[in-house]
Amino acid sequence: MTHFGPVDVIAIDGPSGTGKSSVARAVARELGWRYLDTGAMYRALTWAVLRAQAPVSEAAEVARRISVSIGTDSSAEDIAVDGEHVEAEIRSPEVTAAVSAVSAVPQVRSLLVEAQRSLIGDGQIVVEGRDIATVVVPDARLKIYLTADADVRAARRAREVGAQAAEVAEVANALRRRDGFDSSREASPLRPALHAVVVDTSAMSQSEVVEHIVSLARLVVS
Ligand code: C5P
Repeated sequence: MTHFGPVDVIAIDGPSGTGKSSVARAVARELGWRYLDTGAMYRALTWAVLRAQAPVSEAAEVARRISVSIGTDSSAEDIAVDGEHVEAEIRSPEVTAAVSAVSAVPQVRSLLVEAQRSLIGDGQIVVEGRDIATVVVPDARLKIYLTADADVRAARRAREVGAQAAEVAEVANALRRRDGFDSSREASPLRPALHAVVVDTSAMSQSEVVEHIVSLARLVVS
């Protein structure tokens, strides 16, 4: 990609439980842009690593052996490993528990970042993840960092996975562990990019967050 100045990309980063995926998808739909869920790519690789019973240290070799294809249509989830659809599998508790360790491997990150840049191409896309504005597209036209109180995020996540009341504390702990890991890793830790607009979603409805981001987008996108 050779270009000068900002590209038509909206980067949305932040920890889990902020409503990031639903918000990013809805923003893409509003703008008529494509959508890329980079977390799904790390999850698909993690699923393949677990299936191969490979140690995390060999995750980059697994990544080189397999072919992951992901759609960028905002209206449908579409991800496959060697042609096998894994939309449901990549959301399993096993994958969720292992994904942070796999995505902390620097060689894994360079392979996936390269793939993400090629999917982004000329832009007109909303890209969601942890390092989009800091690493993948530092010249994105709009950089959003979504946050929310830890308790609110845990409650949202518990609802998302359909946890029973007794499991909520466990979900909260797993979330804290994963976010701690993602924020403290050496390779591309989760953090707001310079000039990112930080949006605290704790007291906002999903449609309020979407409306806010779309109105910001309309200011900076021609
Ligand atoms: O967004 P999601 O929760 O599906 O992401 C799963 C995991 O993938 C994160 O916890 C993080 O470890 C990793 N990830 C990442 N960089 C991204 C997107 C996701 O390291 N850009």
